[in-house]
Amino acid sequence: MSLLAVRNLVIDYAETRALDGADLDLARGETLGLVGESGSGKSTLGSAVGRLLPTTARRTEGEVLVAGEPVFDLPAREVRKLRKKHLGFVFQDPIASLDPTMRVGNQLRLVLGRGGDVRFHLGRVKLDDPRVLRAYPHQLSGGMAQRVAIAMAMATSPELLVADEPTAALDTQVREEVLNVVFSLAADAGTSILWLSHDLPAVARRCDQVAVMYGGRVVERGPAREVLGRP
Ligand code: ADP
Ligand code: ADP
Repeated sequence: MSLLAVRNLVIDYAETRALDGADLDLARGETLGLVGESGSGKSTLGSAVGRLLPTTARRTEGEVLVAGEPVFDLPAREVRKLRKKHLGFVFQDPIASLDPTMRVGNQLRLVLGRGGDVRFHLGRVKLDDPRVLRAYPHQLSGGMAQRVAIAMAMATSPELLVADEPTAALDTQVREEVLNVVFSLAADAGTSILWLSHDLPAVARRCDQVAVMYGGRVVERGPAREVLGRP
């Protein structure tokens, strides 16, 4: 069974058809780069995986199965459970996935629950520093905040990490550090990655598989080296 199966998914906003019959399969342990021009539907597809679409979006047709569960047909409570059990998300703006009113250590503690080792999880993203524990998200640099967001998303060892351009706003050197952290943590945990990106060379280097979106559909899918050529 695929970890993720998107079947003929059609998502509409008031005036725009953002997905127009998208199909995608992702196996356990696979890393897949989802590429395509701006507006082709990458973000909509990534958000649909966790039913995290804006309230103005409507699922018109099709389905999304995560570990066999139809996320659009479950009660909201079951969707929250499914997210917690199987999924992690990181976005371009790390601050959006962090709580601005809470110190980093406290919000990580909340995700980990009792018995969780906050310093271990910060250490895995190379941030084991008491100053980081005590900081509020906006006091961190973009790269540090993104690593905190990654630590939070990976704290539960999800089966699938959906990463929506998490390095797009970072400069080149920091981008590589963040990429290293994500891909090594995921490899250690056996986490699959759905990596939404404009950065074709990075996708070619890091991902096993590539899917290309155009006009709200996945128009091509295959091994990264075949689809994108050698990096
Ligand atoms: P991307 O980097 O994925 O191309 P965009 O800059 O297109 O992102 O979109 C940024 C944010 O604006 C997203 O949250 C998206 O949902 C929202 N957005 C994109 N297009 C529209 C639109 N036509 N109307 C309202 N919101 C939009
Ligand atoms: P990508 O991530 O590839 O840039 P998106 O999924 O953000 O693509 O956008 C797909 C289409 O849906 C675009 O036409 C975009 O303008 C539209 N769209 C995205 N978010 C919104 C939104 N919140 N409201 C209205 N239209 C949106």
